Amino acid sequence: MRNGLCCYPKIVVTRSGRSPALLDGCRQYLGRAMEVAAKHALYDTPRHPYTQALLSAIPVPDPRVERAKTLQLLQGDLPSPINPPSGCVFRTRCPKAVAQCAQDIPALRQVDIQTQSACVFD
Ligand code: SF4
Repeated sequence: MRNGLCCYPKIVVTRSGRSPALLDGCRQYLGRAMEVAAKHALYDTPRHPYTQALLSAIPVPDPRVERAKTLQLLQGDLPSPINPPSGCVFRTRCPKAVAQCAQDIPALRQVDIQTQSACVFD
């Protein structure tokens, strides 16, 4: 907690009564939803760069797989939640950020039947 606001990654896994197939998992960064997906889609084929970075940090309980995997380290410091970056709040740490990311706040968009992602590339 910093300044009374949680600034750590949130992984929310829900069983929504309305649409459980579409809302099993939600990744948030600085309070904004980055990706919402069915749990298998979220873990097997993450779309959003933030989700990809988070999942790459999870240890694999197989030494051969763990040694061979590529860790996606995020650069920079976590921005202040009371003064978040313009545009996409993840842009100061995103390895795929482009100039457009500072201009537009990406909305969650349906990218396939199981996944919504908030990224200018989706
Ligand atoms: S909108 Fe830009 S900064 Fe945000 S996740 Fe996508 S590429 Fe990265």
